[in-house]
Amino acid sequence: MSLPPDYHMHTPLCRHAAGEPVDYARRALEIGLTEIGFSDHSPMRRDDFDDWRMRNDQLDEYVEKVRRAQKEFPQLTIRLALEVDYLPGHADWIRELAARHPWDYLIGSVHYVSDSWAVDNPHKLSEWKHRDAFEVWTTYFERLTLAAETGLFEIIGHADLPKKFGHRPTRDCTPLHEKFLTAAKQHDCALELNTAGLRKDCREIYPSREILQLAFEKNVPITFGSDAHAPDEVGMNFSEAIQLACSVGYTQTCRFEKRQRRSVSL
Ligand code: ZN
Ligand code: FE
Ligand code: FE
Ligand code: ZN
Repeated sequence: MSLPPDYHMHTPLCRHAAGEPVDYARRALEIGLTEIGFSDHSPMRRDDFDDWRMRNDQLDEYVEKVRRAQKEFPQLTIRLALEVDYLPGHADWIRELAARHPWDYLIGSVHYVSDSWAVDNPHKLSEWKHRDAFEVWTTYFERLTLAAETGLFEIIGHADLPKKFGHRPTRDCTPLHEKFLTAAKQHDCALELNTAGLRKDCREIYPSREILQLAFEKNVPITFGSDAHAPDEVGMNFSEAIQLACSVGYTQTCRFEKRQRRSVSL
């Protein structure tokens, strides 16, 4: 039994991660991974949109860094991908990005519930004081549903990210989860088990067991990601994530090459 691929890792180009792709690859081999994928934060059409992502003119440099790691570590399968932000109105831009390089997969992530607020931004934590958690969850899951419906993504990243700092809605969110997962199934999007949540205040994998259980019932495929922003985070807590997946019934994960999915046993 081998570990599933770690399909979510970053590079310093996003301005809040450390270590070069070759360092992540070296670490992956150390811990016995056979496959990884880089999925750094994609650029926006406007570079001044935010300050925690690569610039538009750095996309080729990003691809070169990943290619260098592939060359240096031929014994490791290294996929080329992006973590792309979905916001309403951005679909054309995402299509342009998708056409620029032969990506193995695109992770669709929602961080922003408005153009100016990413719910996981530690520098904008005070924004939560002015927000109602259920309203944030509602907008968040509506956007996640729209992201799945674009058909532009192979994987949906960290599906319940708003819990990062420990905020929780008091109302039942099951209908929001249902709607999103139905869209994910319809548009053949895999759901990512992202272990970064275990390193945050919420102390829980994204998504919750409840969402994952629902995903299993709807037959939504899954992938695994550490969301490493430093080499020593590669593959972190994968045993917990595998355990969680198996405990709700999953026996398979998937691998992606040139945006084609293949199921493999867990
Ligand atoms: Zn990041
Ligand atoms: Fe993210
Ligand atoms: Fe990420
Ligand atoms: Zn992420």
